[in-house]
Amino acid sequence: MIESTPVIQVLDESTVHLIAAGEVVDRPVSIVKELVENAIDAASSRITVEVSTAHGAISRIRITDDGVGIPFDQVSIAFLAHATSKIRTGDDLLSCRTLGFRGEALASIAAVSYVTMVTKPKESETAIRFRITGGEVVECTETGAPNGTSIMVEEVFFNTPARRKFLKSLQTEVTHITSLLESFACLYPGITFRYLVNGIEKYSTHGGSDLSDIFRALYPSDAGMMIPIRGEDGNTVVTGLISLPKLVKQNRQRFLIAVNGRLVQSPAMISAVKRAYGSLIPGNVWPVAVLMLEIPPAEVDANIHPTKREVRFSAERKILDLLVRTVRRALEDADLLDLPTEPD
Ligand code: ADP
Ligand code: MG
Repeated sequence: MIESTPVIQVLDESTVHLIAAGEVVDRPVSIVKELVENAIDAASSRITVEVSTAHGAISRIRITDDGVGIPFDQVSIAFLAHATSKIRTGDDLLSCRTLGFRGEALASIAAVSYVTMVTKPKESETAIRFRITGGEVVECTETGAPNGTSIMVEEVFFNTPARRKFLKSLQTEVTHITSLLESFACLYPGITFRYLVNGIEKYSTHGGSDLSDIFRALYPSDAGMMIPIRGEDGNTVVTGLISLPKLVKQNRQRFLIAVNGRLVQSPAMISAVKRAYGSLIPGNVWPVAVLMLEIPPAEVDANIHPTKREVRFSAERKILDLLVRTVRRALEDADLLDLPTEPD
């Protein structure tokens, strides 16, 4: 409660950044998501994610890629808020195919942690080592490094103690990171992903595979109970895997939806798929699914929330119908019965 006459002031820039940063990076797994998306956008073929823990918290996250790198004169610009190489104008959003476009991740991460980036485009002779802590640049020097970018994040949320305090248990954070990376590995089977926790390799995938190979490598006991799906309606295409009705989970954690390569949450799509199974699975459990939708970018609005987990579609009905039809057909092809058509 404010008791004296209020004085209204515009916040200083660093406070504004700190507040905005909290929307993009609310926990360690969001940092991993943003950095892996950057590595994917940089056309990398190998991405390594290393997580270290200390004193019950995540102490360091390092993501190394072999992508296009950042030219010397642009490294510091990359860390400014709203600085992006991916779009130029609002119109570009209509054709945007990259995972990033808001130009907020690096600025946000740098605002709440200690970041060290080493980056080298293949055209450059040398790499740049750039360190920024709490938004302040502390080092920018030439160094030697392979082509690509490595970014190390330490002391996460050092200047937002309240955030730090409310982080979930270490095990929960690591589990979230692990499942996020499994999802990326499924969605990008062409990329080799390596994932290490405290120096111990949890898994690595072989780039150049397809979704079924990756799924089998990650979830060997479920893989034999998955069937492929494919359906299209004009320019909208859905491919992926769904489980036979005998493979169900108590929660929706193994239900992956990606729109144009972007992981999204869509309760509407989950219920469409459940509807397609009809009485084959009970109401309180969920099938395992990987749904990969390709939708013309102009029909998708990913710019609803800073984390882009929610998206909106201009033709949602059409997409949901396509999903129901595609899942039904796959179940019928697997001789799982002639499904009666369920009313919506
Ligand atoms: P966005 O991804 O929305 O453009 P970011 O803050 O995540 O914004 O990154 C800012 C810019 O830095 C990107 O547009 C890109 O040009 C560059 N960048 C970030 N990470 C990488 C990377 N791993 N490899 C090459 N360039 C990168
Ligand atoms: Mg980004």
